[in-house]
Amino acid sequence: MVRRIVRARVGAHPAAEDLVQETLTRVLAASSTIEPGMLEPYAIVTARNVVATMWRDADRRRRNQHRVLDLSAPDAPETQVVLDEEQSAMATALARLSERERRTLLDHEVKGTDTRTLAERDGSTAGAVAAQLNRTRARLRVEYLIAVEQVDPPTDRCRAVLLALSSGDQRRQREVQAAQHLLECEPCSRLSQPLLERGQQRDDSLRIAVSGDPDIVSARVAARELATRLAFGPTDLTVIATAVSEVCRNIVRFAGSGQVWLELLENPRRGIQIVARDGGPGIPDVEQALGDGFSTYGGLGLGLPGVRRLMDEFAIASEPGHGTTVTMTKWERTNDE
Ligand SMILES: [Zn+2]
Repeated sequence: MVRRIVRARVGAHPAAEDLVQETLTRVLAASSTIEPGMLEPYAIVTARNVVATMWRDADRRRRNQHRVLDLSAPDAPETQVVLDEEQSAMATALARLSERERRTLLDHEVKGTDTRTLAERDGSTAGAVAAQLNRTRARLRVEYLIAVEQVDPPTDRCRAVLLALSSGDQRRQREVQAAQHLLECEPCSRLSQPLLERGQQRDDSLRIAVSGDPDIVSARVAARELATRLAFGPTDLTVIATAVSEVCRNIVRFAGSGQVWLELLENPRRGIQIVARDGGPGIPDVEQALGDGFSTYGGLGLGLPGVRRLMDEFAIASEPGHGTTVTMTKWERTNDE
């Protein structure tokens, strides 16, 4: 069924099978948080979304390619725009909570007040406060997505459906007929993806096979999502995603295929490590390849020198005829840096 949907949209595009696999991977990953009756509808909307994302991402990359070079400037105007948009979306989302929900959440998350203290203040129990915090977070995720994606939920049922997905409450998903709604409501089908993918792959590492353009997109998205679990700011998240897509693009371009490993590190401090490995022809002169002004394929984009500048640690090992391994790390910044 998934294959049929994908083929209907992209035909015999070389990426078709990758898109099918990507869809199935996502559906399997979400299977524990959705009720069984939702598997098929979820597969359908996921297939549609995966195809749409590939085109959207490719298009955006084409349009923004000239900007990639400026990424190292932390105060680039577009970074500020992203920051402002995210902040204002969060403010909108917070404003939709009740006064009590908002106060409890902010006291807990911002001031660090523990649930026991909050319970004493409200004449409640720590368990009840923790449950309330979970419900509030689920609502905040929904409201934040609605605001940041600038969606105007078209029906009265939309928020109830999204909330049931956000909280992973399978009984509630059946009650509000979430499956049927996702098939009928385009905005909710779109927002369902980030809500259901949240919290999956709790593993702190992940391997992605890279053999074509869609894999570059997947690796880029995966790196950003993994890095989001640490306290990286928007600029660093973009830097990490860009560095990953750059090394993946090198793999596709020069070796045809390879792999990239993404791993969150705890020691000596928190950060993300990216290892990209291919068995291609290798780089004859690594020093030259890392020199400024040297572009391995004369195209747009950062090239390896740009990636090295953006990341905190960068090493490259290459042996002609035996492939190339790029290892790079971005450390989470502490407040005084
Ligand atoms: Zn809806």
